[in-house]
Amino acid sequence: MIRKSKPKMKINNTKFDIAIIGAGPAGIAFACGLGNLKIKVAIIDKFPKKIIANPKRDGREIALTHNSVKILKKLNVWNSIPKQSKSVIKEARVLDGESKYFLNFNHQEIQKENLGYLVPNYLIRKSLYKKLKKFSNIAIIDNAKCVSINTNKDDASIKFSNGKKIESSLIVAADSRFSKMRSKMGISAFVRDFDKNMIVCRMKHEKPHKNIAYEFFRYNQTQASLPCFKNQSSIVTTASKNSSENLMKMNDKKFNKEMENSFNKFLGKMKLIGKRYSYPMVTTYAKKFISQRFALIGDAAVGMHPVTANGFNLNLKGIEILIEEIEFSIKNKTDIGLSKMLESYQSKLHRAAIPLYLTTNSIVNLYTSNILPAKITRQFMLRLANTVKPIKQTFLNILR
Ligand SMILES: Cc1cc2nc3c(=O)[nH]c(=O)nc-3n(C[C@H](O)[C@H](O)[C@H](O)COP(=O)(O)OP(=O)(O)OC[C@H]3O[C@@H](n4cnc5c(N)ncnc54)[C@H](O)[C@@H]3O)c2cc1C
Repeated sequence: MIRKSKPKMKINNTKFDIAIIGAGPAGIAFACGLGNLKIKVAIIDKFPKKIIANPKRDGREIALTHNSVKILKKLNVWNSIPKQSKSVIKEARVLDGESKYFLNFNHQEIQKENLGYLVPNYLIRKSLYKKLKKFSNIAIIDNAKCVSINTNKDDASIKFSNGKKIESSLIVAADSRFSKMRSKMGISAFVRDFDKNMIVCRMKHEKPHKNIAYEFFRYNQTQASLPCFKNQSSIVTTASKNSSENLMKMNDKKFNKEMENSFNKFLGKMKLIGKRYSYPMVTTYAKKFISQRFALIGDAAVGMHPVTANGFNLNLKGIEILIEEIEFSIKNKTDIGLSKMLESYQSKLHRAAIPLYLTTNSIVNLYTSNILPAKITRQFMLRLANTVKPIKQTFLNILR
């Protein structure tokens, strides 16, 4: 038997100003934002470039807010996402059980032509990588699993599983919501396992969606539909581990019927296009976003519940804040690993993240509970959220 030799990781330079761990969408977006600065940046991932450059479809359709689109435009990434892959969301409606009353978010409320855009995750990642490759100040270190971090007053270093090492003034971890680097730096996180899975897939349906996103909270299952082109939607089902395993296993014909029924025939006949993908429902919120010469970004900082479709939107907001702080440090010729700069990043991100995280989690609690008081409260909350400004404003603010 011929054994394929493991691809080797190449490191020409070992000293950087900023080293980013994780070339997921957050890590790459952050790196792209540093692309025009006069600093040396490394972005590291355990996967080979071939995989990072050509991400496969993962079923996630990312609902992007106007602010996220603005950031992606600033990074020169938005226009390289094919036009035909960006669909428009005009309105979002949240419904409880069989009730016809809904919590409504409308594009007119934010004085825009639409609430946001829906873009497949793999295309966002592909476009980000295409941009990343163009920067001469950024080294992409692939096939490199980070195993430890060391930071002190003067500098920081990262060690890889093959024993190699790089040095940097600042280390930024974007290594997912299950961030090992967060733990290595002694930062704990509020972790909540909902003991549910989220199944995502694309489906064709008989009735038009009119560019409206729907979220139906049923008592054991949550159904959402996000409008794609023509009569297609991204269908998101949140269910218990057992039910979701069944939904993943059943044949296409049975799955189509199951979805038609779960939507109460709201979208008419439905037909699966492509595969189904399952994700565990775990949310995380790091107790600190920084440490000495160290910062967390992306899901490693805050891993939101996807129910309000805000994870990557919040990631981008955090990235924007940290880039501004770094630019400010460079302009003032101060050390980019300084704790003052990092503290400013931390407090601004907390201010943006806490209201959204808490509101999202309380919505999830309320809508996934089957006890009678919760069912009654749900109806009350829908009406309250529609009429009481601060509740609705938390979401409208991030949509702008
Ligand atoms: C079903 C679903 C639907 C969603 N829908 C939306 C939506 O509509 N809107 C929205 O805004 N957000 C949405 N999100 C959230 C969004 O997808 C995430 O916030 C985003 O993908 C997180 O990106 P990230 O780069 O932080 O992490 P990841 O994508 O997890 O990337 C982490 C990277 O770090 C690398 N890595 C990890 N450990 C190491 C190590 N030790 N050494 C080297 N490399 C390492 C990994 O290989 C990986 O490339 C959704 C999420 C899900 C699950």
